[in-house]
Amino acid sequence: MPATPPQPPDDEGTPLLQRQGWGLPDSWPLMAAYHDGETLVCRAASAAYARCFGIPADEVIGRPLVALFGEALAEQVQPFIAQALRSAEPCSCEQDLPQADSRRWALEFTFVPQRTDGQRPQGLHVLLTDLTRHRTAERALLESEERLAKFMQASVEGIFFHQDGRVADANPALCELLGHTLHDLIGRNALDLVAPEQRSRVLHVGAAGKELTYETALLHRSGDRIPVEFIERNSLQQGRPMRMTIVRDLRDRHAAQARLHYLAHHDPLTGLPNRAAFLAQLEHLMVTARASGTQLALLFIDLDHFQRVNDSVGHTAGDALLKTVAQRVGEQVRSTDRLARFGGDEFMLLLPGVRDPADVIHVANKLLAAVSSPLSVEGDRPISVTASLGVALYPRDGETPHLLIQHADAAMHVAKARGRATYAIFEPEVVSTAYANLVLEGQLGHAIEHGEFALLFQPQVRADNGRAVGVEALIRWQHPERGLLAPDEFIALAEQHRLIVPIGAWVLREAARCARHWHERGLGLTVAVNLSTLQFQAADFVESIQRLLDDTDLPRGWLELELTERMLMDDVPAVRERLAQLRALGVRLSVDDFGTGYSSLGHLKELPIDKMKIDRSFVRDLPEDRQSAAIARTIIQLADGLGLSVVAEGVETDAQRQFLLQAGCDQLQGLGISAPLTAAALEAWLGSHPQASPSAVPDQRTSPCA
Ligand code: C2E
Ligand code: MG
Ligand code: MG
Repeated sequence: MPATPPQPPDDEGTPLLQRQGWGLPDSWPLMAAYHDGETLVCRAASAAYARCFGIPADEVIGRPLVALFGEALAEQVQPFIAQALRSAEPCSCEQDLPQADSRRWALEFTFVPQRTDGQRPQGLHVLLTDLTRHRTAERALLESEERLAKFMQASVEGIFFHQDGRVADANPALCELLGHTLHDLIGRNALDLVAPEQRSRVLHVGAAGKELTYETALLHRSGDRIPVEFIERNSLQQGRPMRMTIVRDLRDRHAAQARLHYLAHHDPLTGLPNRAAFLAQLEHLMVTARASGTQLALLFIDLDHFQRVNDSVGHTAGDALLKTVAQRVGEQVRSTDRLARFGGDEFMLLLPGVRDPADVIHVANKLLAAVSSPLSVEGDRPISVTASLGVALYPRDGETPHLLIQHADAAMHVAKARGRATYAIFEPEVVSTAYANLVLEGQLGHAIEHGEFALLFQPQVRADNGRAVGVEALIRWQHPERGLLAPDEFIALAEQHRLIVPIGAWVLREAARCARHWHERGLGLTVAVNLSTLQFQAADFVESIQRLLDDTDLPRGWLELELTERMLMDDVPAVRERLAQLRALGVRLSVDDFGTGYSSLGHLKELPIDKMKIDRSFVRDLPEDRQSAAIARTIIQLADGLGLSVVAEGVETDAQRQFLLQAGCDQLQGLGISAPLTAAALEAWLGSHPQASPSAVPDQRTSPCA
């Protein structure tokens, strides 16, 4: 737009701007005008002034002020104009001026009266200054400050500003964190809020003006230390450097970290260190033991039959039981000992500084006693559990954690093999037997289904005429690798693991089947079967015999059961009752190995028994050994007095035979008569040895019992 020179006022008082060269170029942003002091008609104006009111520059001259400003604005500025004219002093005011594009300008109006000495001013200079940018910046600043204030108020993190080391501002979160009021904090030395040992670091970071995030600690008003994270930033406040510190309370984070660490290292059920933590402790204690030249004992504790307990009481109660066991064991150990749950029902205990292995035995006994005292879980009736415990010593029994644990474990299995509820100390030889037994135990469990058992039959003959009256069934195990095993190699093991119950049942069935077979063929033989305590004590034992007799249709008197003295000694009334029931079924009863069980002879009188078997240890040294001779005679007389028949076991020589016959023994059994035979061999043997009362002559067909 071309520059429009303002029209000069038409009176003699030439306006100032005109005099100074009023014809301003249109491009000048100066917004200025000259109005008549009386009429306020515009006499001169810059292009920018005219543009400001949306009027072309050439149309502005001659218009009254109200026509330019509009009624409303004119009314608002009127008092300031009046004031300027009245006082002959410049007067300003700020007003918003709406623009065509609906923005608003913030304008400062300055009215400068044109002085004429002593008279009322003839004219009025009007200067407009655009304050919009100013105001916008101011507003933005205000808004930003407002936002910051709101943010500070709302922030859960503590925030404070400090300048020259003094607190300038702080938010409620920080006040709360530290237990101070804002009033307390403002002006305070910021370093006073920091935990003493952290001050030099915080000071250093601050002095270097670093923008850092780091962990440090503050002090609560109470003096408590609060772990925090500082996020330090620089800012300016009225041109002066200011530090802003965001304070993040780390207590929750630390607690969570501690919890995670705890969970990673502890067993959630018992709260004891877990396997991983235990291994770390073991390694550490091994190093200490090596350095101090002391021994470290590792006790491997395993509950006996825990699975069975768990199955019978349920898992919740099983858990409660484990907790109780953990607690009881924990109560027995010193603070320097380390107890851990290794998994399932396995616990590990480390005893450092062991000087005498006897001390470990003492601890082991205490632990076994503590575990085994009855406990009640969930209000149920009290139950007892026992533990087996294996001990290995470092460095003696293993140089590495792995080896030491393995050996303590092996020793624990030895304790199990010894009947449980006991401890065993690692010894390489013992452990290998225990392992062999474990292997055997596993194989024993499958021997029945694999058909590896067999029965041999050893004849029993009348002492006077040598005629066969019966046989004793003796079990053998045809082991796939070890060959034929005699009972003393596996019966004890089978008893320990209750496998004797199914094995014994198999023996009974097999013996009864053979007895039936021989009976059918007219061979009048009693078949004697050895019983084991567990079998005899089983609640359904009598019924099982009844069933067996029914199933095999075996006539009365052909089945004989051999019991040991020991079986007859517990709970005499119950035993008597049981024997009477068996007797009523037509089963014969004999006392095996008589003389070895220290039973009171008196109570045998009360029991319904048919036969006594003199143990072979008394027969062996007959007739020379006087003591054996005296015992054999006494037993025979005693049996005679009770109306029982007597069998001597282990008869090998003619001299023994002779002696026993003269002493009044009824029957003989032993290698001197016959070794134990297979069913077929027995039948052949019977062919050449007449029976006491042969009801038939055995034919030469192969026996189905073979
Ligand atoms: P036992 O009941 O005293 O059986 C007699 C044992 O003496 C048998 O040993 C037999 O072979 C052996 N014997 C026989 N004659 C002589 C002899 O002249 N001299 C010597 N020194 N020994 C002789 P075996 O078969 O090794 O059985 C050993 C033990 O195993 C049996 O002793 C019995 O207690 C037990 N047993 C055998 N079979 C069974 C079974 O089926 N069940 C149970 N629970 N135990 C069994
Ligand atoms: Mg026997
Ligand atoms: Mg015997």
